[in-house]
Amino acid sequence: MTKVVLVTGASRGIGRATALLLARQGYAVGVNYLKDEAAAAQVVAEIEAMGGRALALRADVADENQVVAMFNALDVGLGPISALVNNAGILCQQTGIEQLTAERINKVLSTNVTGYFLCCRETVKRMAQRHGGQGGAIVNVSSAAARLGAPGEYIDYAASKGAVDTLTTGLALEVAAQGIRVNAVRPGLIYTEMHASGGEPGRVDRVKSSLPMQRGGTPEEVAEIIVWLLSDAASYVTGSFIEAAGGR
Ligand code: NAD
Repeated sequence: MTKVVLVTGASRGIGRATALLLARQGYAVGVNYLKDEAAAAQVVAEIEAMGGRALALRADVADENQVVAMFNALDVGLGPISALVNNAGILCQQTGIEQLTAERINKVLSTNVTGYFLCCRETVKRMAQRHGGQGGAIVNVSSAAARLGAPGEYIDYAASKGAVDTLTTGLALEVAAQGIRVNAVRPGLIYTEMHASGGEPGRVDRVKSSLPMQRGGTPEEVAEIIVWLLSDAASYVTGSFIEAAGGR
């Protein structure tokens, strides 16, 4: 049976690279996106061009009703989910603690934390053997910021990734006996459009000389780790974290 994966935030960046690599491995791919319908359609078209199956699924992962509707559409459109990549995430303008508002903090947490929880919940409802599911695997895209704290830039974002790490640990233990593995990857500085949201599109190039490997990473390098964590090659791995940060 074809494996079905949902990748959140899959219209660009790490999510896009992961969706394409999973399709190459034979997965049918739910391509979640927030706004950019054309970019999501492009990912679907690329997957179909390589002979794969994909479905664009519009949903704000921070919105419970939209998440439930997305999972229902995935069930109908591609079949039972066997893998989830929680990837959709945001950060805001670089700033210190004095400028952080409740509105901004809650916005970051609602996408990066509540969104991950909701997608895990809907996935476990479908995968858990106690509900008649077949098990499966979840990968949460965390960040090296969870370890480093992002001082003076976006502690709110770093803290949201700390919560993702705790979600990964707790859920891995909660569902290990249900045939579900839950792991995380912590990327470092990766060349994507996300850094523009922090006000510094060229951030990776500015900081790269301070990294042990002296270069930024690519979305494809992160995708390789995610695909491995989802695969049967990682069948005894759960509650684990892989750093993809060039030694940082
Ligand atoms: P990106 O901005 O290119 O991609 C993020 C995607 O998530 C976008 O397509 C965006 O539309 C989507 N998204 C945002 N909010 C959403 C919502 N509420 N609902 C649905 N989709 C939503 O950035 P990226 O670098 O590819 O980031 C992917 C993941 O990797 C994020 O979780 C990010 O925190 C993490 N990460 C990135 C880096 C990096 O250096 N780029 C480093 C560490 C971790």
